[in-house]
Amino acid sequence: MSDAGVTWAGTHRFIAGRLITPRDADEVALAVREAPGRVKALGTRHSFNAIADTDGTLVDTTALAGEPHIDLSDPAHPTVTAPAGMRYGVLGAWLQHRGWALHNTGSLPHISVAGATATGTHGSGARNGCQSTALRKLDFVDGDGEPRTARIGEPQFPALAVGLGAFGIITRVTLGVQPTYDVRQDVYTGMPWEVLLSDTPAILADAYSVSIFTTWDEPTVQQIWRKSGIGLDGTPPEEWHGARRSPESDARLVDGDPDALTPQGGAPGPWIDRLPHFRLTHTPSNGEEIQTEYFVPMEAAGEALASVRALAPQIREHLLVSELRAVAADRLWLSGAYGRDTLAIHFTWARRPDAVRALLPRVEEALAPFDARPHWGKWHAFDAAAIARVHPRVADARAVFEELDPAGRFVNDHLVALGVRAAR
Ligand SMILES: Cc1cc2nc3c(=O)[nH]c(=O)nc-3n(C[C@H](O)[C@H](O)[C@H](O)COP(=O)(O)OP(=O)(O)OC[C@H]3O[C@@H](n4cnc5c(N)ncnc54)[C@H](O)[C@@H]3O)c2cc1C
Repeated sequence: MSDAGVTWAGTHRFIAGRLITPRDADEVALAVREAPGRVKALGTRHSFNAIADTDGTLVDTTALAGEPHIDLSDPAHPTVTAPAGMRYGVLGAWLQHRGWALHNTGSLPHISVAGATATGTHGSGARNGCQSTALRKLDFVDGDGEPRTARIGEPQFPALAVGLGAFGIITRVTLGVQPTYDVRQDVYTGMPWEVLLSDTPAILADAYSVSIFTTWDEPTVQQIWRKSGIGLDGTPPEEWHGARRSPESDARLVDGDPDALTPQGGAPGPWIDRLPHFRLTHTPSNGEEIQTEYFVPMEAAGEALASVRALAPQIREHLLVSELRAVAADRLWLSGAYGRDTLAIHFTWARRPDAVRALLPRVEEALAPFDARPHWGKWHAFDAAAIARVHPRVADARAVFEELDPAGRFVNDHLVALGVRAAR
C-alpha cells in the first residue's frame, strides 16, 4: 500500500501501490514507461469515488511546473496553455492580472484544471458550457509513455475533453480565454417553491450564473446566489420571482464562515473573485461530506425537482444542502450536458456512507424518467448498463480509449464497472 492517502473528503482510500509526483512532461513519460502495470493520473483529489485510483502507480500531476502562456496568434480565438495540474484559482488570478478570463468556474477554485475537465466539472449559467468546453488542446502521455497532442476539431477530441483519465496523463491544457469581466453576487431569499417549480429554466437563465440552494423541505427556497455580469445583466432587482435581495452575505447553508465565501452583497469584482463560491485562500467546509449530482434536461426541470421534493422526508435527515445549477448543452461525448441544456441537481450529504448509499437508488429512481446522468466524480449507484442508457456516446468514447491505450494501462475497476473501459 502506498501513502497515496484518501480523497479530499476522505470518501475513498486509494489502493495504489505507488505514488509519484513528476515535475514535467518528460518525467511523466519516464514514469509511465518505467511503471510496472497500470497507471492513473491524479489531480487535486476532489472526486468522491474511486475514479482516480489504480492498482498500480498514481501519477500526481499537481506539481507539474511551468508558467502559463497566452497565445494571441489567432486574435479571434485567444488561448492560455497551462500545466495540467494547476488549480483554477491560481490560473484565474494569473489570467485576471493580465486582463483575461475563463468563461466560468466551478464552486471551488482549489481544483485542478485537468482533473476538473476530465469529469465534466461545471459551474452555473444557462449559456455557460461545463469547464471542459473551454478546452482547445490537450498534451498528454499515452500508455507507451509517448507524448501526444489532441486538438479541438479532431475526431477523437469529443471523447478526450471529458476523458476521465481513461486514455492518458494530460501534462498541459490549452483553454479558450476572453477579455476579463466583472461580476456581482447578490443573495435572494424567500422565493416560493411553486414559483421555482413553474419557472426554473427562466430563473436559472436570468443572470450570468445562478445557483439555487435548498434543503427541499423549507417553505420558501432557502437562498439563491445570483451572479450578474456587469454590463451584461443589468442591475439586479430588489424583488425577483417573489424573492427579496438580501443586503448581506449569508453563508449559513454552506459553511457557517462568511469569510470562506467570495464577496456577496452586490459589490462588483473580477470574475475569478465572484464566480467560484469559495475563496482560494480558505478551505471550504471541513470535508465531512459526500457529494452526489445528477444532470437532467432543463426542459423537464419542474417535473424533476417535484420528483425529488417528494423524497424530502427521507433525504432531509442526511442532507447538508442541495444546489441547483444550469449547464449549457455541449457535444462532448461523456459530458453530463451532452446534447441537452441541463439542470444539475446536486446534493451535499453528511458523511454517513451507509445512509447515503441506501438513499442513492431512491433518488435515482425518482430521476430515472428524466434520463438523469450522474456526475462522474461524485457518488452514485449507476452500473455500466445504466450509464449506457443515459450516455448515448459511451461506446464511442470507450472505443477511442481502447484505441489510444490498447494495453489497458489507464484502466481501473471503477471505469470498467461503468463501461467506460473494457474489462480484461
Ligand atoms: C468541495 C468540492 C466542490 C466541488 N464543486 C464542484 C462544482 O462546483 N462543480 C462540479 O461539477 N464538480 C464539483 N466538484 C467535483 C470536482 O470538480 C470533480 O470531482 C473533479 O474531477 C475534481 O478534480 P481533481 O483535480 O480533484 O481531480 P481528481 O479527483 O484527482 O481526479 C478526477 C479524474 O480526473 C483524472 N485526472 C486528473 N488529473 C488528470 C490529468 N492530468 N490527466 C488525465 N486525467 C486526469 C483522474 O484520473 C480522475 O479520473 C467538487 C468537489 C468538491 C470536493
